[in-house]
Amino acid sequence: MPTQRVPELVVFDFDGTLVDSDEALLVPFDQMGIDRSDVVMGSAVAEECERLGISMQAYVDAYDTEIVQPYVGVPELLTSLPRWAVLSNKHPDSAIAELVRLQWQPEALMCADAFGWAHKSLVPMLEALALTPRDVVMVGDSAGDLRCATEVGCRFIWAGWNARVAAASPTGEVAGTPGELLSALGFA
Ligand SMILES: [Mg+2]
Repeated sequence: MPTQRVPELVVFDFDGTLVDSDEALLVPFDQMGIDRSDVVMGSAVAEECERLGISMQAYVDAYDTEIVQPYVGVPELLTSLPRWAVLSNKHPDSAIAELVRLQWQPEALMCADAFGWAHKSLVPMLEALALTPRDVVMVGDSAGDLRCATEVGCRFIWAGWNARVAAASPTGEVAGTPGELLSALGFA
């Protein structure tokens, strides 16, 4: 395997990648009478609420920002990285409340509002930070995260510590633990 360049910046998806949030994200849908099997995890919050016929504001109001916890090893991973950012499809109010509670300070945070409430993209983040696709690695748990990396042509690594990812055994690079990710990125 060729030697990979050490990235300038690691861009993380938030839900299902840094925090184990599947259950917390599904509870408001339960309360609004949406069957869990109808929910597509990793979608842009506004698009998913519209598709399911519910109010985004009602969803955000029902979402409990006090309960999600990081995956094991993620806090240590983040403190080991020189530069990291968050690219998320979730509502900024939810993301900011959780980042404050977890005392995480990404160099950049872009949520659903940064993309006109459509699906997220790395393009504006790279522009804002004056970085090229070669400078970054995207880490995520969903097909939408992979699309973000493919769109700009950057390296992508699956968050294999998410049980849903591990069970799917996706093709491509998979890090089994946050520690493995650190090694794969050349930081350990
Ligand atoms: Mg996710």
